[in-house]
Amino acid sequence: MRRKMVAGNWKMNKTNIEGVSAIKELVKLTKDYKNIDIIIGAPTIMLEALVKASEGGTVKIAAQNMHYKESGAFTGETSPAMLKSIGVEYVILGHSERREYFFETNQFINEKIKAALAYEITPILCIGEKLEERETGKTFEVIFKQLKEGMANLTKEEAKKVIIAYEPIWAIGTGKTATPAMAEETHKEIRGIITEMFGEEVAHEVIIQYGGSMNANNAAELMAQSNIDGGLVGGASLDVKVFDVVIKAGMTK
Ligand code: PEP
Repeated sequence: MRRKMVAGNWKMNKTNIEGVSAIKELVKLTKDYKNIDIIIGAPTIMLEALVKASEGGTVKIAAQNMHYKESGAFTGETSPAMLKSIGVEYVILGHSERREYFFETNQFINEKIKAALAYEITPILCIGEKLEERETGKTFEVIFKQLKEGMANLTKEEAKKVIIAYEPIWAIGTGKTATPAMAEETHKEIRGIITEMFGEEVAHEVIIQYGGSMNANNAAELMAQSNIDGGLVGGASLDVKVFDVVIKAGMTK
């Protein structure tokens, strides 16, 4: 049975002091939680401090981006070797904001996924369709391409380790959530594509999170769907107490 995984994405929010204080509070609140994986994706500048503040607790730390090269002339970038050296265990890759504002392609994201796996950093691969793509019946086509290209050239063992976050772009930060039935239908399609690419065993094991205005009110119903294995949570992860409610919603099933 797949474990639930709830990941917060702080995006470009909080100072280092605020981040450390939030992690300490979260570690305290969740210290006895079982059967759930809890992750916080934070800005690069605070990763080392957050890894230290979360040591020994239930909360793991994710970067929100990474370059795929180990080192070199890439001004402003962070390498997988650098993340690994400070104990970062996860990295969010291909978030729709990076695809849109920083022009990241599926091929570039694929290089990053392969690099993360090579450094034993677990990638969280974000995929999802725009509103006009859903409205014109292109959702399947879009996620199919994102998965085919984003997970190209992975072995079955590698594919199993990738966490997929299905985030319909029209639901991110908008307050519009996909209904649980709508999200479940797409998650089922994603599992079908993974079956086609890597076989049933991988598809059965791979974790697929839902993301897009998940909050304290809708998390339980979303995560109760059989193909929804947790959430990638933006806005509702910024307040520790609200995020704690979301985490608990993932523990109820
Ligand atoms: C996200 O950015 O990954 C996200 C899902 O944001 P929000 O929860 O705010 O919609």
